[in-house]
Amino acid sequence: MNNNGELEGNVVWHQSSIKKEDREIQHGHKSIMIWFTGLSGSGKSTIASALQHKLFEKNISVYLLDGDNLRHGINKNLSFSAEDRKENIRRTAEIGKLFVDAGIVVLAALISPFEKERLNARALYKQGDFIEVYIKCSLLECENRDPKGLYKKARKGEIKQFTGIDQPYEEPKNPEIVIDTTKLTVDESVEILLSTIFDKICLEQNTKE
Ligand code: ADP
Repeated sequence: MNNNGELEGNVVWHQSSIKKEDREIQHGHKSIMIWFTGLSGSGKSTIASALQHKLFEKNISVYLLDGDNLRHGINKNLSFSAEDRKENIRRTAEIGKLFVDAGIVVLAALISPFEKERLNARALYKQGDFIEVYIKCSLLECENRDPKGLYKKARKGEIKQFTGIDQPYEEPKNPEIVIDTTKLTVDESVEILLSTIFDKICLEQNTKE
């Protein structure tokens, strides 16, 4: 590493003899990243967690990377500044990429408010391996739900840089799936996601293409 913490040109990628495709066959399905973005309280964790349960019951190797949980460990040194949110997304996307390489269906639920960072996350994955799910919900409804009491604190100025209050949320321009939680129940949302995901992770269908 040089003084800027950057790697110099002497770290060489070690190619694994086991390919992602080999691992997918072992798991019995393709592995992809399903990236949930949306305002706090929009329903990302609730839906991703219910979806994880359904996939698990169907013997899919699945793992949920929940943004709040990651901030208790690998991302505990990060704040909510724009710069640290960027790093939060980069790390989550890189960790998810390792899981996907390991043959696992990954669900990542984090606000990820900036389009540029979401595009950077997507760019780490092969075409078709990154599915962006926009959990759409009005700020008004999120604030009414306020499941963790965070909007109340943000309105009082007790939390700074809160998405939707004093930091922007940039709506995804081209998400693969939009789930409007002001119109759909959790069960309906999960059903929609399940059918889409099954199509994408089915090995037979994908090898025929
Ligand atoms: P996020 O992870 O986006 O911050 P959470 O999932 O933690 O959001 O919280 C969403 C809250 O909204 C939960 O308390 C959930 O029960 C509630 N909720 C109400 N209606 C819906 C819906 N249709 N879809 C998802 N969550 C809903």
